[in-house]
Amino acid sequence: MQNKRLAQWIEAHTDMLSRTDEADQALHAALYEGIIEMALNGETRLIDPVLESAAAHAVAVGRSLTGLLGVPQRLRERIWQRIGEEIDPEPAFEMLSAVDIIFVHIVRATIDAYQEAIRLATAAKATEISRLYAESERKVMEYTAEVARANRELARLEQAKTDFISIAAHELKTPLTLIQGYANILHDILTEERAINLADGIRRGSERMGAIIEDMLDLSAIDTNRLSLFLELVNLNKVIGLIIRQLEPVLKDRKHTLQIIDVESLPTIEADAYRLHQVFAQLINNAIKYTPDGGQITISGETVAATKKMPACIRITVKDTGVGIAPEDREKIFEKFYRVGSSDLHSTSQTKFMGAGPGLGLTIVKGLVEAHQGRIVAESQGFDMQNCPGSAFIVTLPIAATPRPGLQVTRLPRTEAQEEAAAPTPPESY
Ligand code: ADP
Repeated sequence: MQNKRLAQWIEAHTDMLSRTDEADQALHAALYEGIIEMALNGETRLIDPVLESAAAHAVAVGRSLTGLLGVPQRLRERIWQRIGEEIDPEPAFEMLSAVDIIFVHIVRATIDAYQEAIRLATAAKATEISRLYAESERKVMEYTAEVARANRELARLEQAKTDFISIAAHELKTPLTLIQGYANILHDILTEERAINLADGIRRGSERMGAIIEDMLDLSAIDTNRLSLFLELVNLNKVIGLIIRQLEPVLKDRKHTLQIIDVESLPTIEADAYRLHQVFAQLINNAIKYTPDGGQITISGETVAATKKMPACIRITVKDTGVGIAPEDREKIFEKFYRVGSSDLHSTSQTKFMGAGPGLGLTIVKGLVEAHQGRIVAESQGFDMQNCPGSAFIVTLPIAATPRPGLQVTRLPRTEAQEEAAAPTPPESY
């Protein structure tokens, strides 16, 4: 490959350097120097590192090997053409032979360098991938441990809540019974009207407190699966009829109209009548509370035929024209102590508009429905105190009792009165 004349000739033809793409100019110039060096003394110490760095750069930027080889290829063509034009055939033949040997080396070394660069890049990528993989695995493990810790803490808090409810309710019950007893005695023995009114106030307050304590005890029984169900044949038309009679003064006071659709034609179901009274009294009471005065409350019933997943059921919907429930609250309202929005929105009353209680009502309702292996869902277009989109609470209960396993269940014998209670026309009680 040594050819001094070729080296001198190339050195004298630097004009060829400018005839290339701007992007390849640096490579072109370096190649030029490398070729002169090779032609002068046959050394590749200059050209080889140039080719290696060009190949590494080409791999890094995604340039193909053919694209990279195009640069020396074009240079060779130009040298051939110019030597052919300028030099006599005999010396030209020798120069061109040397040119070709140089370029065979360039092509070979470029291919090797390119392959090596790919191998290095792949290895680097693999190392980087395995580093990232190890990193993400470590993060996943950290998160898993964190979630497990948070879950344990949640379970501990949930247990503490359950224990607190149970202990507080039991501890409050005895002194409250005393207060109620003394308030009753005071009410009976006092003669002055103002004093009687005060005693009456204590009595009503302690009754309300008693109702809250009963709720806490029910909740504690539900939470710990200690609920007892007394099963009998229940006519829901009668249960609802009784609730409505009890709530009639409130309905009138709040100027709500009530519509009952197809509840009278529902079949009797085997269930705990007292608990179902609790369920529907709470739902109807909530419908009254969360609907502005002059609203409409609709209670409708239907029978649902058995499917592969569900036995034959009855479905009762309590629908109102009230403030409605936001989508994000539709499930949360069944959680204990959950109240929608700020407490400023609520008044503390059992029947007034937006008169919220402690937020236990729906939790107990859900627990009681599920104890019967039934389901409850809330439907609403959203919460809006101005436009009142309304809400619907849909309760599905199996006709034949299938209480949740683990509950203490007593099946009451069907007495004549109960046979009568199962009849479609409602007497005074169920
Ligand atoms: P509370 O004792 O606060 O009434 P509940 O468990 O009965 O507790 O209800 C929980 C929350 O669900 C209520 O604070 C209320 O925001 C919402 N809610 C219940 N029933 C209705 C309804 N019919 N319409 C709109 N919101 C309701």
